[in-house]
Amino acid sequence: MMKTHVPVERLFNQFNEIAMILQEELSCTYLEALAETVEDIFHHKILQEELSDFTKKRVMKILEENSLDFFTKEQIRKAYQLAILKGMKEYVQPNHQMTPDSIGMFVSFLIEKFINEQNEWTIMDPACGSGNLLATILNQLQGKQLEAYGLDIDDLLIKLAFLGANLLEQTVQFYNQDSLEPMFVNPVDVTVCDLPVGYYPNDERAKDYEVSVEEGHTYAHHLFIEQSIKHTKQGGYLFFLIPNGLFESEQAPKLHELLKKYVHIQSVIQLPISMFKNKHNAKSILILQKKAPSIQAPKQVLLANLPSLKNKEAMEKIIIQIDAWIKENKK
Ligand code: SAM
Repeated sequence: MMKTHVPVERLFNQFNEIAMILQEELSCTYLEALAETVEDIFHHKILQEELSDFTKKRVMKILEENSLDFFTKEQIRKAYQLAILKGMKEYVQPNHQMTPDSIGMFVSFLIEKFINEQNEWTIMDPACGSGNLLATILNQLQGKQLEAYGLDIDDLLIKLAFLGANLLEQTVQFYNQDSLEPMFVNPVDVTVCDLPVGYYPNDERAKDYEVSVEEGHTYAHHLFIEQSIKHTKQGGYLFFLIPNGLFESEQAPKLHELLKKYVHIQSVIQLPISMFKNKHNAKSILILQKKAPSIQAPKQVLLANLPSLKNKEAMEKIIIQIDAWIKENKK
């Protein structure tokens, strides 16, 4: 194994080296091999009976070089995330990409601001993919008692999410399903979702939704917003990563109607364009609160353009703006 003292790198090397051996020996994809690797690391033994004794010895030697006990949960999450990112280069379609760390950190910060006083709550990500966004939030909010749910249609990604949660000792219930079909999760306090963007092919199912369009396919991201609102408690919050043009498409009028009927828009925060490969993929964070008899709309919606996260001074200004808005509208 390549020797390095940087913990994340050291652990990544362990994941990576075992995954590469298993990929070759089992003739599978890197991500499938990574899933096998994590099972081996978790159980601290080699579960693939079909491997030759020579390969088993090689893998065991690498396994024994590190123990997860020596790493923090953030180090484990980051190393695992790097390995998944490597595998995604050969596997994943554009809309299935992992939510970057910096966004996950910022969303965690926002969640904490909005539900500051509650210590016990439930959280769901209905399109959790590899689980990185959810895992980042759960790591950041470690002091809180959270009951978490993750759903995704992609069986390999959700397997990786499940294995990651085991590594991080996070209790999450996962469901491998189309989240636009009926969901068996009770309404939660917080929904978070990096929305899959595009058309939803199942027109029959889409007809069950208020945002469905009469002709052609409905946008999956609109359907996801409606489904998420339905599965969030009255007064609960929803944090979405949305495409910047969400409110300007030809299907947007139906979305506007839906939002007006069921939620109070809290905030739209545009993420720095520099975070995205091209400006057409740029995203914002949309924060909603589901209506309840006792809850009033904010005096004004919090609108902000996030500077580059590296620009400390500009970030401090935004944080002051968010704090002032919370004080004015949420206390
Ligand atoms: N937050 C995730 C992470 O950190 O890895 C990334 C989410 S990715 C942008 C969107 C996810 O939506 C993909 O994992 C994809 O499989 C999932 N997805 C797309 N359509 C879906 C559907 N109908 N039901 C459930 N999941 C769906």
